[in-house]
Amino acid sequence: MTILHDEAIVLHRLDYSETSQVLVLFTPTHGKVRAIGKGIKRGTKSRIAVGIDLLERGTAVFSTRGERSETLATLTEWKPRSAFLGLRERLPRLYAAQYAAQLTAQLTADWDPHPALFEALGDCLLCLAEADEVLGVVVAYQQVLLREIGLQPRFDCCSGCGRSTELTHFSSLEGGLLCRHCEPAHVEKRELTPDALALLRESPCFTPSSPLEPPRAGSPGEAAPAPATPAPGPTLPSAAVRGAFDVLNYHIAHILGREPQLADLLVPPAQRRRLH
Ligand SMILES: [Zn+2]
Repeated sequence: MTILHDEAIVLHRLDYSETSQVLVLFTPTHGKVRAIGKGIKRGTKSRIAVGIDLLERGTAVFSTRGERSETLATLTEWKPRSAFLGLRERLPRLYAAQYAAQLTAQLTADWDPHPALFEALGDCLLCLAEADEVLGVVVAYQQVLLREIGLQPRFDCCSGCGRSTELTHFSSLEGGLLCRHCEPAHVEKRELTPDALALLRESPCFTPSSPLEPPRAGSPGEAAPAPATPAPGPTLPSAAVRGAFDVLNYHIAHILGREPQLADLLVPPAQRRRLH
């Protein structure tokens, strides 16, 4: 048996018996690890044990028959570091965090370390826990995730002819953009607005609120009105953020072979065309 120590974020959890849990942990050094926490929900006289929560971050010790073993590792110790409590205060934050966790679980392989992606997921959850508008944070995480797994699309020029203007569509199979001259020859494509494209060309950045919201008012060139007192409660993502999310989610759906489960909860279908 090998004993391993690592930081971890809980991507998925499943109650296994009255007292045990099976956890999918994402760690910086060992990648995604599936582990069983035996007796983890067993309380004592002085302590009520509730197990380990989804999206919790902590320090884990687990034993395994060797890295890359296909059997479950055994979690022997868990020290919680952050539960990102702000995620539980608003449903959109929780949906966004679960979307990020599910994609991470589905798009990374067991025992395949991605330390930069682990850091990005930690930053993403931290931002989401206090975000008014969550979709901009999700878009930044989609970008980092695709880059880290080597499937980042190109957003600089048409993948058909190399043209850098009149870019109107995205193709997942081509891994990039199509201009309006090349687009008719492709069946698999998604329309893309210039605003969304501009956002996708920016470096992903985790900030609690998207830099492009609130939605721009007035005609192009007109000075934006001075922001009024911020409205209480969640703000809506701008059309550019929704468009960027739509294209990246479309690409991810192609990679996975199915629509990510929580996409519709993040952006209602009425505001986003479904993948056909
Ligand atoms: Zn072209």
